[in-house]
Amino acid sequence: MDPVIYVFLAALITALATGLGPLPFVIWRSMSPKAVSICNGIAAGLMIAASFSLLQEGMALSPTRTILGLVGGFVFIAISHQIIERYDNFHIGDIVGADAVKMLMIVGIMTLHSAAEGVGVGVAYAGEGNLGEFITAAIAIHNIPEGLAIALVLVPRGAKVWQAMGWSVFSSLPQPLLAVPAFMFVTFFTPFLPIGLGLAAGAMIWMTLSELIPEALENATSPMIASAVTMSIAGMLLFELLLRAV
Ligand SMILES: [Zn+2]
Repeated sequence: MDPVIYVFLAALITALATGLGPLPFVIWRSMSPKAVSICNGIAAGLMIAASFSLLQEGMALSPTRTILGLVGGFVFIAISHQIIERYDNFHIGDIVGADAVKMLMIVGIMTLHSAAEGVGVGVAYAGEGNLGEFITAAIAIHNIPEGLAIALVLVPRGAKVWQAMGWSVFSSLPQPLLAVPAFMFVTFFTPFLPIGLGLAAGAMIWMTLSELIPEALENATSPMIASAVTMSIAGMLLFELLLRAV
């Protein structure tokens, strides 16, 4: 097979894997306000864990560029948030106002971070040995809880499960789209990789603390939310550890 097609298909699989994340909501439909708060806490933990794996990857490549990216991500998200919040009649489908803003922010951020991962997949395939396959498998599997994080924010706000699955896959589409050019022009893309990883991590951390945590605290106590966040970080790390052992 043409290596370019191979890289595209591999990165497409990672994108489709994200669509598996919202599946638990097929069975689990109605939720109390407290359960919604805890879902926000779990989503926050998953996002923090994902941010730290992006930072770890970036720091291994170039600490300075990763830090620059992190600060850039913070500035970018803080400004975008200011702009989007001005549109109080903003809507996605039937969902209007603050909820729609939050949905747009989370889908936007997950899309941004998966762009960095798409470049990572492409660069890895240009390297030696089985690195490409390893990175693809790692990203595909780690995309599943990220799809879940998206669903945890979207479904309690009235999105249907299939819509959450669609948005999850959408958030990962930059992976197949960016893996191919990154693979073809690896020497051009490689210097930007740590910046992109830092950028995505900065935006995710900011979004988690500015939106998900305050909202989680509305209907649950802070020890409850702190437990949900800590346990979901532990869960995500365990998940990645098991993946490495396979
Ligand atoms: Zn990710």
